[in-house]
Amino acid sequence: MADKKLQFAIYWAASCGGCDVAILDVNEKILDIAAAADIRLWPVAMDFKYKDVEGWADGEIDVCLFNGAVRNSEQLHLARLLRRKCKVMVAFGACACFGGIPGLANLHDRKSIFEAVYGYTASTVNPEGTTPQPHLKVPEGELTLPVFFDDVYSLSQVIPVEYYVPGCPPTPDTIMTAVTAIVTGSLPPPGATVASDKSVCHDCKRKKSDKPTIKRFHRPFEIVPDPEQCLLEQGFTCMGSASRGGCGALCPAVNMPCRGCYGPMPGSLDPGADALAAMTSILAASDDATVAAETARLLDPLGTFYRFTLPVSVLGRAPKAS
Ligand code: SF4
Ligand code: SF4
Repeated sequence: MADKKLQFAIYWAASCGGCDVAILDVNEKILDIAAAADIRLWPVAMDFKYKDVEGWADGEIDVCLFNGAVRNSEQLHLARLLRRKCKVMVAFGACACFGGIPGLANLHDRKSIFEAVYGYTASTVNPEGTTPQPHLKVPEGELTLPVFFDDVYSLSQVIPVEYYVPGCPPTPDTIMTAVTAIVTGSLPPPGATVASDKSVCHDCKRKKSDKPTIKRFHRPFEIVPDPEQCLLEQGFTCMGSASRGGCGALCPAVNMPCRGCYGPMPGSLDPGADALAAMTSILAASDDATVAAETARLLDPLGTFYRFTLPVSVLGRAPKAS
């Protein structure tokens, strides 16, 4: 271990905060991290100001763990600023790696999101139709808010990124593997994903048939699954075959289909298309009408197959209204 402590920055952008909580989930190992590294920025845990970050020399920080997608001008500014100040940039968690759940907002655009959120949701009370404005003149001066973008971006879509630590959130084991590699200087070559190169199915202990078939698609609340058989073969939309492993197949172990939070398999062009092709290719249907009826039971296909990856998929986003 180097004599000088590593300098760490941890930042969150468009995220739920789960990735920050996941860092605390390493429990007492957080003390090992604290012994090896000075945490110079962690807004969720301590009070920091922009001027603290702006005051650092370029490259002064060794590693930044950046969680969350980028969906407004403040997040983009901080991503660019931290890129300058940090030697190694890590996309930490599914939102930073692939756009994540916030990336599903790419099914809409700024205008339609504002119309819904400030107009007609069940809990909206806004008779004057007020919406956030990036600039507002008041007697005391001008108030500013970040500009809300039409699109949600993964981190590597806006700045160069050296490493990817996937998961929603990354498991404690994944986090410790990444942090240990950083602290001991044994990181893989830049561009690597700190997770398994095999699929979730590879780690899943459920029984798989030699010739799997699906008779009918089910949502998790519709039937009680057999606790031992492969969930996909029971008709649940399990993304395990199209998803990178590394989590220990946590979800199928507790009767929940894998949702794909560790992202695409290495070399995959489009994980949603991979999963959809895998499922429909084993559908036990001999005529077009049955195929149509069964696939119609796949409600919310975009939200199911692109739950974490829409911004980095071939689709990227839904067409914008002209
Ligand atoms: S499809 Fe899902 S349940 Fe079946 S083996 Fe793969 S991860 Fe396990
Ligand atoms: S089983 Fe799938 S959804 Fe669950 S933690 Fe692993 S990769 Fe994520």
